[in-house]
Amino acid sequence: MNTFYVTTAIAYVNAAPHLGHALELVQADVLARHARRRGRPVRFLTGTDDNALKNVTAARAAGVDVRTFVDGNAARFAALREPLSLSFDDFIRTSADARHAAGVARLWRECAAAGDFYRRTYRGLYCAGCEQFWTAAELTGGLCPEHLVAPEPVAEENWFFRLSRYTDRILESLESGRLRIEPAARRNEVLAFVRGGLTDFSVSRPAARAGGWGIPVPGDPEQVVYVWWDALANYVTALGYGTGDPAHQRWWASPGERAHVIGKGIVRFHAVYWPALLLSAGLPLPTSILVHDHLSANGAKLSKSTGNTIDPVALTGRYGTDAVRWWLLREPARVGDTDFTVERLIRRADGDLANGLGNLVNRTLTLAWRHRGGRVPETVPPGALGTACDRLPGRIDRALHDFDFRAATDALGAVVGEANRFAESERPWEPAAADRLDAVLGALIAACRLVAAELSPFLPDGAARLHDRLRTGDRVARPEPVFPRIGGRVRKGGSAGQAVAQ
Ligand SMILES: [Zn+2]
Repeated sequence: MNTFYVTTAIAYVNAAPHLGHALELVQADVLARHARRRGRPVRFLTGTDDNALKNVTAARAAGVDVRTFVDGNAARFAALREPLSLSFDDFIRTSADARHAAGVARLWRECAAAGDFYRRTYRGLYCAGCEQFWTAAELTGGLCPEHLVAPEPVAEENWFFRLSRYTDRILESLESGRLRIEPAARRNEVLAFVRGGLTDFSVSRPAARAGGWGIPVPGDPEQVVYVWWDALANYVTALGYGTGDPAHQRWWASPGERAHVIGKGIVRFHAVYWPALLLSAGLPLPTSILVHDHLSANGAKLSKSTGNTIDPVALTGRYGTDAVRWWLLREPARVGDTDFTVERLIRRADGDLANGLGNLVNRTLTLAWRHRGGRVPETVPPGALGTACDRLPGRIDRALHDFDFRAATDALGAVVGEANRFAESERPWEPAAADRLDAVLGALIAACRLVAAELSPFLPDGAARLHDRLRTGDRVARPEPVFPRIGGRVRKGGSAGQAVAQ
């Protein structure tokens, strides 16, 4: 009933992962960890979109056979788990998982049985980068608005899906909020698009053009399933939709939350096409689509073709998992793109973690050992600090429900700020404070423990180290820097940005 199924988009494996992939994975990871902390049953899925034609193109350009190329890059995505401290329960690969092809075939047959397919010759402008057709009106100066290249004219006979049939039902789901899109700016864009009317779209490609790569259309081996259809299906195929796995019933077909975390470039596929496929097949819709904007780095778009990529593994190797996760959660705007620089990463980590929370914990433990031998009874924080502590869990719940990581991390910072103000006004280090020392230290330790616990979905590693120091009960460990300053490491060895660029 209270289940939470959360997914990322599956990434193209035409190149290695960059910082934008790390953003989406870390966001979904926080939602998953937070829901688990609140006692909800959680399943967190990620994976790779192996079947895209752009993978075939990239493999040819690299002079490697497609299978070897795709396997190599997919492994690099799966290997983000440790450096980013991700907690996904499942990783699907659309070319390598038997459950995926079986699920795609079943979804296709259900939509066919609903009478939603027909054959048509299609002439259009196709962008291989997007794997989609554009109309002339949608182009920017004749170029694909995403890739800024001229799409190629293509004429071919394909299977079409009757998307137009589902316009009213999709609109109703969006307007009623049963299919929630956050933030509102993205929801409004989708509503405007759907209100403009939906046109049927092509859902297969000639197998010859796909170089034999992809999933054959059931009953028509001359065609392969359009990669977007194939890719979207992963959210149910990974649950064993095609193989009779009870996971499908538990996580998709029962009441509960089904959330997709995606980038703004693919909202239409998730908020329009995907619901239509599900309606056609008689399946429930997702309940939430949570949309992040894009990252740039050093003022330019993250792009393999321009060489402006930031390797998240190198970044965590140099600055630590906590600093990278913290930047990804603390800085990116909810709406609007955000520019990454190593200097900003360091300023955030040193300001909020080393100087803020880390320093608060350190000086509290120092006092506890200097005056009480590490033994302090926990007490309920009074006044403004108490209020901030009481409000913290609810503030985080609301912020994460709204897919607002800045607000969630603000809430943590508010308690740290109140605890520092409390310490400054009570001045427990002065001899005159001796009679209230236990009460003040006990309140500070209670506040620090609460922050550490609520921080754990955001920074699982740092929170575990905080817990090692703060412990539970009336005895704390000796102080030790939990978030060492990282700023000093940069100036040696030249530009830090170069060290992590691929
Ligand atoms: Zn494009």
